[in-house]
Amino acid sequence: MTPTLLRGRLLSFKRAPQSLDDTQSYLYESDGGLLIDNGLITAIGPYADVKANAPADVVEIDHRPHLIMPGFIDMHLHFPQMQVIASYAANLLEWLNTYTFPEECRFVESAHANRIATHFYDELIRHGTTTAVGYCSVHKTSADAYFAEAMKRNMRMVGGKVMMDRNAPQGLLDTPQMGYDETRSVIADWHGKGRNHVAITPRFAITSTPAQMEATQALAGEFPDLHIQTHLSENHDEIKFTCELYPEAIDYTDIYARYGLLGDRTLFGHAIHLSEREADAMSEAGSIAVHCPTSNLFLGSGLFPLKALARRDKPVRIGVATDIGGGSSYSMLRTMDEAYKIQQLLGERLNPLDSYYYMTLGNALSLSLADRIGTLDVGTDADIVILDAAATPAMALKMEVVKTLPEELFLLQTMGDDRAIVETYVAGVAAKVAL
Ligand SMILES: [Zn+2]
Repeated sequence: MTPTLLRGRLLSFKRAPQSLDDTQSYLYESDGGLLIDNGLITAIGPYADVKANAPADVVEIDHRPHLIMPGFIDMHLHFPQMQVIASYAANLLEWLNTYTFPEECRFVESAHANRIATHFYDELIRHGTTTAVGYCSVHKTSADAYFAEAMKRNMRMVGGKVMMDRNAPQGLLDTPQMGYDETRSVIADWHGKGRNHVAITPRFAITSTPAQMEATQALAGEFPDLHIQTHLSENHDEIKFTCELYPEAIDYTDIYARYGLLGDRTLFGHAIHLSEREADAMSEAGSIAVHCPTSNLFLGSGLFPLKALARRDKPVRIGVATDIGGGSSYSMLRTMDEAYKIQQLLGERLNPLDSYYYMTLGNALSLSLADRIGTLDVGTDADIVILDAAATPAMALKMEVVKTLPEELFLLQTMGDDRAIVETYVAGVAAKVAL
């Protein structure tokens, strides 16, 4: 592959920003050069320096005046819910039973799963997302479609076949043994192939019997390096129903803890209504609460106390995500706009540096994948997004008065969507232009 040199304004985080003035928390290069070779970032710095040391056959792409950032990471979404998005429902459980479960039944058919997988990756790339953590349906066919398409596009993706053996239509149920066996075959078929990571995926405690939770525990023991993903504490009716199903547990989080699923690779979607005890337990285990703001507002689930959880004496690790199809946008920019508004309603401030940290390095750290993604560091994967804060006439007009980098980031987050994504590079290859 010919080496490529991207020129533009580079922005990459080094650690979580402490405040809006924390310029030490990120690297910013106003006329930067980013050298890419063989899918990896091989040099970063002032354009003149990187250019001077670049190979003679380098191909230059001038992205000035746009921002060059690590590709966005989406920590939680549902691949079989692309046609569930925008479904009118009163709350989570009605939404699941009326729209989501019937739609997921269709993924038993490979043709349907393959067709939706194509659209799924198109939308991720269109919105600047280069890594996502997805739930497939209960059917192995859906996981095959998900990972085959990821491999075709050379994307670093995490995902798993959902395990669920009760409280759903027959067509969506496996058994403890089937869930175990099929998860093992998804791991054998896909984990480590291309850039794929398989996650152990019990949907949530409502749809898994204790026997299935035991099977999940066995998988987690056999494959300790794999991520585990599930849902936790999304709305009050769900919490009540879940705790009734596991009366021996002291609270919702304790259900997962009892089956050995509370660890530093466990991603809990939502985790909105945690008690202090649950937050302590999450913190001690290093588990991740994945905030899905558009979904939480859309389903009326509640206001996630992001800032409060992050600044506890025992802080909870946090990720951010779209949660398609409960979520209402594929855009991580739209997602962080809603995250900002939720903190506003809670009397908290989420500053724009925080937002971009969470979408990139923060999520990469939460996935224990920061050695590969989430920054523009040399040696990491060349998964990159190019952002234009003047992408629409209204944004361009506002840009006339924007003076600082945080102001520009905030404008992008407040008004931006897929139109603000100029290009998405996947392992060094321009992928959006090809859509
Ligand atoms: Zn979800």
